[in-house]
Amino acid sequence: MEHPLNIPNGSAAVNISVIDSTRMRLPCSHLLTPEIPQHQYLDLPSFSFLIDHPVLQRKILFDLGLRKYFSSHPPAVHKFLAESGWELQVTKDIPEILKEGNLCPDDIEAVVFSHHHFDHLGDLSQFPSTTEVVVGPGFKDAYLPGWPVMDESSLVDDEWKKHTIREISFNDGPNSLSIGGFPAIDYFGDGSFFLLDAPGHTIGHLAALARVSLASTSAELQRDKFVFLGGDICHYPGVFRPTKSFPLHFEAQAAFYACPASFFLDVHPENNCETPYYRMPAHCTVDKESAERSIRKLCEFDGNEDILVIIGHDASLIGKLDFFPKTINGWKRGAKNAFQWAFLKDFCNGI
Ligand SMILES: [Zn+2]
Repeated sequence: MEHPLNIPNGSAAVNISVIDSTRMRLPCSHLLTPEIPQHQYLDLPSFSFLIDHPVLQRKILFDLGLRKYFSSHPPAVHKFLAESGWELQVTKDIPEILKEGNLCPDDIEAVVFSHHHFDHLGDLSQFPSTTEVVVGPGFKDAYLPGWPVMDESSLVDDEWKKHTIREISFNDGPNSLSIGGFPAIDYFGDGSFFLLDAPGHTIGHLAALARVSLASTSAELQRDKFVFLGGDICHYPGVFRPTKSFPLHFEAQAAFYACPASFFLDVHPENNCETPYYRMPAHCTVDKESAERSIRKLCEFDGNEDILVIIGHDASLIGKLDFFPKTINGWKRGAKNAFQWAFLKDFCNGI
């Protein structure tokens, strides 16, 4: 039977682990609009994800978070940090964390970057030249070469030019795929991991869909389960929740968070439990319409009970899901509801 989001059948699943090394503190207005008075600051992680194909014994990373040694950022990043006032904390670089799971950079066949912003680029110099770099359509023309060839670049050119850089094309003629409206490619060729074309925030922004469990006879696994990696399609869960098809039961949530009954409705800028709390501001996009289209498609995945949506800066994960070296393959449908509304606690400051 055809999947409602046109996810093709697959013969394999991948293991996904979340790698958590970063915290960023910044004003909400930098990434969200309109203002919600009860919510002034964002405390965000910037995740990297290990995708491990256990049968093919192939491992890739999706994004690298932030690098630990800020001094090696290009001048454009230093300038941005000085002007923006973002506070950053990075405890470890990704290779240090991989080591805790008995892995090393040589084990990683490719790093897929959702986009070119410094909070996703990590430190590519710590990976061997044999690790391929995978980017979205238009990336090379728009963002390479890096610094110092291009003064304003957030990429360090010496780190990038030692790698083979593969720019994905989603126009693959008769073999082209579309999943939930996103043009897609089947990365391993067996339906276990798809890269999705999700532009708007930047040129060539990539998202991904991983099949993490194949259906079996157990009650929890009557259908395949998935994890959707949203990158920076948007930066906060309140940009795609709630929706008409996934409304907020505000009284139940108020009871859970011990707030007055109508609190989460009153906090909502439109007093509406069927539209998202926030929008992505135009200054966070290269193409506002494309960004809005990508967010609308993301909502469809979020409303599907077989898919767990995780965006790159999703603080809701912390304390709710396991981190590397454990996997998140065993996420439970019954726990998805609590996970999806965990961001509401951000509005409760001062109550
Ligand atoms: Zn980001």
